[in-house]
Amino acid sequence: MIEQNVKNLLKEIPSKNPFNEKVTLVAAVKLQTAESINRAICAGVTDIGDNHVQEFRDKFSEICGNPKRHFIGHLQTNKIKYLIGKTDLYHSIDRLSVAEALSEKSRAAQITSNILLQINIGKEATKSGFYLEECEEVYQKISALPSLKIQGLMAMMPLDANQNLILDLGGKMREKFDLLKSCDKNFEYLSMGMSGDWKICIKAGSNLVRIGTAIFGERNYGK
Ligand SMILES: *Cc1c(COP(=O)(O)O)cnc(C)c1O
Repeated sequence: MIEQNVKNLLKEIPSKNPFNEKVTLVAAVKLQTAESINRAICAGVTDIGDNHVQEFRDKFSEICGNPKRHFIGHLQTNKIKYLIGKTDLYHSIDRLSVAEALSEKSRAAQITSNILLQINIGKEATKSGFYLEECEEVYQKISALPSLKIQGLMAMMPLDANQNLILDLGGKMREKFDLLKSCDKNFEYLSMGMSGDWKICIKAGSNLVRIGTAIFGERNYGK
């Protein structure tokens, strides 16, 4: 089932978005076993994204095939030390303090960490992230920190959003992404789209989708 889901998705996801950019599939692997993750990788998944530092650590040595590693969950500053140097892209930089902590830890490790700024595009109380309106000011502050490379923006659409709202919010994200990209050559990724909305998000200009359920089935939160 996992194998077939991955193959179908890789066929269904357009190779290019309407902005002529390659679209990357990141498998969202929270609560999945290493065995399931490895099956997805064998079927063609090249990028995996974790939400929880503990899970990332527990499974790290069991993951095959050297996939590109993304961190997509809420990041606590005291957990950064476990991810440093092992994460190719942090999607969830959602406050200044976490950017400062990651900068500091990266500098100490003499590496550069690649990050996306997480935008709370629906201004939901239940989600973290910067407001789109403060994006440029935040970008200025964070780009002044050493040992970080800002590579784009990330957002999650409101759960109850219909197609039109997703297109609208996605379009606003794309506009801001293009504005920052026009003066920062490191801007490369607009991370938007999950199992339920990836098609519309790509239409709106996403080039990185994070998909869990459509690969692994419903998550078992009971365990
Ligand atoms: C879980 C998760 C996803 C994947 O969600 P699905 O609906 O299962 O595809 C994507 N992004 C983030 C940040 C997640 O936490």
